Amino acid sequence: MRLILLGPPGAGKGTQAQILVEAYGIPQLSTGDILRSAIAARTPMGLAAKEVMDRGDLVSDDIVNGIVSERLDAEDCKVGFILDGFPRTIAQAEALDQMLAEKGMALDAVVEITADADVLVRRITKRARESGVARGDDNQEVLRKRLNVYRELTEPLVEYYQHKRLVRTVDGMQPIEDVTAAIRRAVHN
Ligand code: ADP
Repeated sequence: MRLILLGPPGAGKGTQAQILVEAYGIPQLSTGDILRSAIAARTPMGLAAKEVMDRGDLVSDDIVNGIVSERLDAEDCKVGFILDGFPRTIAQAEALDQMLAEKGMALDAVVEITADADVLVRRITKRARESGVARGDDNQEVLRKRLNVYRELTEPLVEYYQHKRLVRTVDGMQPIEDVTAAIRRAVHN
């Protein structure tokens, strides 16, 4: 199973990805997590990404395309994968199409998780308060920025994948288990 999870910050992509990892035995590829590990390890890539991420802007397509292309070659991705946080721009989606074609892989579905804007703000503010680990980008001002970036650059991907008949839209305002159930029904279509 090869899936993309699409949705604004706070929609629950990470939560659902972790559940689906267990359910399907496929890895979660979170570009956000990979970038945060690079920051923690103080690699040159991490150092370059930190400032951009803390502002709520997108890291350059070249960097994230490279991360994903390399990750897709790993053994554990042979059985499938869940992309979480990638692609985030049309250019990234086009790069992904090319990578997958070169690797002889095809997507099964793009799951769009939707949620109301006010709920997203509440969820992320709560996450920032409760999680011990401080994320430089989980504050009100940067959150607004990330939501705007999502609307401008990432939401157009819904239409991009609709043309490929891959989009399955799931209501992310339901309880976590119900969202999972809806995703499982949707991808088995
Ligand atoms: P969220 O889902 O809450 O927005 P992520 O962990 O997916 O959080 O991403 C956090 C930040 O990491 C983004 O705001 C962006 O700066 C960077 N990032 C993650 N994935 C990408 C990507 N595909 N392209 C560009 N930047 C990315």
